[in-house]
Amino acid sequence: MSTPVNITAGSHVWVEDPELAWIDGQVSKIDGKNAEIQTSDGKTVVANLSKLYPKDMEAPAGGVDDMTKLSYLHEPGVLQNLAIRYELNEIYTYTGNILIAINPFQRLPHIYDAHMMEQYKGAPFGELSPHVFAVADVAYRAMINEGKSNSILVSGESGAGKTETTKMLMRYLAFLGGRVATEGRTVEQQVLESNPVLEAFGNAKTVRNNNSSRFGKFVEIQFDKHGRISGAAIRTYLLERSRVCQVSDPERNYHCFYLLCAAPPEVIEKYKLGNPKSFHYLNQTNCYELSGINDAHDYLATRRAMDIVGISEKEQDAIFKVIAAILHLGNIEFAKGEEIDSSVLKDEKAKFHLKMTAELLMCDAQALEDALCKRVMITPEEVIKRSLDPLAATVSRDGLAKTIYSRLFDWLVDKINVSIGQDPNSKSLIGVLDIYGFESFKTNSFEQFCINFTNEKLQQHFNQHVFKMEQEEYTKEEIDWSYIEFVDNQDVLDLIEKRPGGVISLLDEACMFPKSTHETFAQKLYQTFKTNKRFIKPKLSRTDFAIAHYAGEVLYTSDQFLDKNKDYVVPEHQDLLGTSKCPFVAGLFPPIAEETSKSSKFSSIGSRFKLQLQQLMETLNSTEPHYIRCVKPNNLLKPAIFENVNVMQQLRCGGVLEAIRISCAGYPTRRTFFEFNNRFGLLAPEVLEGNYDEKVACKKILEKKGLTGFQIGKTKIFLRAGQMAELDARRAEV
Ligand code: ATP
Ligand code: MG
Repeated sequence: MSTPVNITAGSHVWVEDPELAWIDGQVSKIDGKNAEIQTSDGKTVVANLSKLYPKDMEAPAGGVDDMTKLSYLHEPGVLQNLAIRYELNEIYTYTGNILIAINPFQRLPHIYDAHMMEQYKGAPFGELSPHVFAVADVAYRAMINEGKSNSILVSGESGAGKTETTKMLMRYLAFLGGRVATEGRTVEQQVLESNPVLEAFGNAKTVRNNNSSRFGKFVEIQFDKHGRISGAAIRTYLLERSRVCQVSDPERNYHCFYLLCAAPPEVIEKYKLGNPKSFHYLNQTNCYELSGINDAHDYLATRRAMDIVGISEKEQDAIFKVIAAILHLGNIEFAKGEEIDSSVLKDEKAKFHLKMTAELLMCDAQALEDALCKRVMITPEEVIKRSLDPLAATVSRDGLAKTIYSRLFDWLVDKINVSIGQDPNSKSLIGVLDIYGFESFKTNSFEQFCINFTNEKLQQHFNQHVFKMEQEEYTKEEIDWSYIEFVDNQDVLDLIEKRPGGVISLLDEACMFPKSTHETFAQKLYQTFKTNKRFIKPKLSRTDFAIAHYAGEVLYTSDQFLDKNKDYVVPEHQDLLGTSKCPFVAGLFPPIAEETSKSSKFSSIGSRFKLQLQQLMETLNSTEPHYIRCVKPNNLLKPAIFENVNVMQQLRCGGVLEAIRISCAGYPTRRTFFEFNNRFGLLAPEVLEGNYDEKVACKKILEKKGLTGFQIGKTKIFLRAGQMAELDARRAEV
């Protein structure tokens, strides 16, 4: 970013601080390349001059609602501006066209009510305080006026507020494009009510968020030629499957399991349910209840929402029956059988749960037991039944639970889509993307790899857009921008997705080759990417690898990459449920075409995800994008706590700093001629005497002070990074 200029004894500056990221202070002494600074928290620190940033002593006390209005655009200035505003409950701030939203972790009064919606309706962008409604409004107006599709991309880390923001956007769009209340269900009602349904089945409490979406979502809202909502389509991405059978304290499984356990007594009796503590899939953690959530109430609310989106009562019963079956399935335990490496049901309890599972899934109990404990091998001579040991049988059981659950989730999404309906005549749409942000944990596996791949894709899209917007502004003002360049992340994308030879390709190859292990896979990566700048082989590991993502380096553990990449349903499970007497269950397991079932080719989750992403990018590329960056101000999930270092890291991952960097590579400071003369006229009072031309006056002032490289546009003056600070310093000398 901008290099410091004219820092002398007495200058007010920002200096790096290990705890606060940046702290302000005043230079007391300069010694060669170093400065001694008295910080505002009473310390004396010494720092290299090149590490200091000038502090704008004229920045408004309440901050500015758009970062581009900051006189000095740099990291500490951006951070301070957000902190000041957050303290005043101003959670929204623009950076040009990007909206930064900081989670308030409390319901702020009136900011989303009907009156507010009325106010934002049709108001010119930037006239009212920054708001999600303003973003939705521009998108809608642009769509109506230009007949072009728009999209709103919401991103941020877990708990940052993406889903809440998305819901607010959808509410506002429904307000703009809704009909006057008519009989029955309206499309916009269905679109809105799809949220609670998907949340019941796709959200769970995690350490980062009590209502964490465990899937990505793109909602495409279609409009007719009158600007009314006429259809919608929901696409979802990568539901976290492992959570169905594996939950660690203090997290929970998907909400729907707890809702069902809190259903009215007749339901509990019918499905032989009871306390969630009695089910293995729920009792691996000590967390059952959520503060402020009433599961019994939410069970009924979910069913009501299902009514609205068009899921019939019969289908609802079938859905919850399957959920009950999964709970019973998880309680089927195995013990060693008499033959070597075989297993039997552990005890009476296991037998009871097997019987219940079979009853609920409407299949034969013995067939279910066999499907869990045995594998059929077909050789040219005979058909052999091989037994599984208790551990393998348990893995088989969990595999079945995950498959049923993910098929059920996909069914819900399809059903909602069919029920809302697509408008074939729709000319334009507004897409809303609510997708997981960049992740880097202590251990990162295949899921993080896919998530971070998504973020690389979106980052590229974002950079190109920001860059384009900058260029457009310059073109409009007729100034020269030819020498601005920016660094692309195409090299990381190539590393991940190139065919052949990218990580996903190599993973698929490993999955198809029976003898591969995660060790051979890792070795192959090491060999292939030996000289790749974005790939790192950790010194002490033989199976881990790291990728230098745009947001930082992430270390991946390859252990489960092969397994997690294989989307494979055991034929025994397929046969069992495909022939269930319950049409709903059988419908989740449609017959597989003969060729696919026989061919040794497996279905790759990584490649399918890559394809989904490609389609998403194609859709996004045909729209005018708008970006909302959600920020989580603290990890305690509490209001009024703003952790500087934490926020800084998120601004970096969300590309906000990158956007600022791109902007700084050009002319980050823009002032109208009037504003400029007002601030700097006293540097050359003679040019402002009598009748003068504002534009010429600006030029004269700049030339008098020996500045070069600036540009004079049609209505504004464009300054290079740091030039504003330089002029301020000169002004202080006058
Ligand atoms: P994940 O990636 O885990 O799904 P997310 O970014 O979707 O996270 P949300 O579920 O939207 O996060 O928000 C987390 C919580 O923060 C909400 O349950 C709510 O309590 C609070 N919250 C978020 N945004 C707002 C807001 N604008 N006003 C009040 N509270 C909010
Ligand atoms: Mg969410």
